[in-house]
Amino acid sequence: MTLKQALSHARHILAGNNIEDAPLEGELLLRHTLKISRTQLYLDLNYELSPKQEEAFRRLIKRRLNGEPIAYITKHREFYGLDFYVDPSVLIPRPESELLVETALGLAQNHPPFIIAEVGTGCGAIAISLALSLSEVKIYATDISAAALKIALLNCQKHGVIDRVHLLQGDMLDPLPKPADLIIANLPYVKESELAQVNPTKFEPMLALNGGSDETERIHQLCRQVDSKLRPNGYLLLEIGQGQRRAVSAFLHTLFPNGKIEVVPDLSGTDRVISLSLTSQPELADAQPRR
Ligand code: GLN
Repeated sequence: MTLKQALSHARHILAGNNIEDAPLEGELLLRHTLKISRTQLYLDLNYELSPKQEEAFRRLIKRRLNGEPIAYITKHREFYGLDFYVDPSVLIPRPESELLVETALGLAQNHPPFIIAEVGTGCGAIAISLALSLSEVKIYATDISAAALKIALLNCQKHGVIDRVHLLQGDMLDPLPKPADLIIANLPYVKESELAQVNPTKFEPMLALNGGSDETERIHQLCRQVDSKLRPNGYLLLEIGQGQRRAVSAFLHTLFPNGKIEVVPDLSGTDRVISLSLTSQPELADAQPRR
């Protein structure tokens, strides 16, 4: 079988099993099998796979058909233009979470933060993206899962930010050594009844998705901790799920009656990020979704 035939075989079989982006996934699986770049793949389409390579490729396709996300098979996922190492101990970063990073960077233009705390960092994608864009900032990234922090550590090393991103194990803001100027979090917020839909093959950690009996339970838990962990004039940025804007903003309003609350929709128009500002001026005008 040549590379060209392998691509067409994969496309056919993946598409036949309702995998949305079958051509792209087939290509990624083939490149992963042979450890080659996209250019190398397309320069040598008549290359003949050895029987061993062909067997390895078929095995990867089988794993994919078994519902394993491609990011776990290849152990990579791109987020905010950066490559992150992922495995099943962390949630696969979602494109919609780039809006959290964008919003934080928009805020940072007018109010440069010195200390940022990211809660529930998982593979570290948000903390590392911020560290690379804000060269002066110190970031504390917490996670309750030790396994997730191991992956975050690998990513901090890979992106050279190990001296500025401090990984701390613990629940929410508990391990934070001092108050932050900006607290940012993509906490679990999926309804229990919708978990099967979001994570049908259960490869992703449910802990990172399950919002609790009331889907905003984890978010509310963090909001209750914020008061003692946010510096005067600080900001809180939270990713939320569809339909959660009212509940979360009402809760924040009760806790911080003088705080400014703003909501940023994602590109599909879904309210995706809520910000709470303890300053008197709302500053979100500059933040725009990137795509
Ligand atoms: N946006 C994710 C999804 O619906 C959920 C992530 C989360 O719970 N924070 O797949």
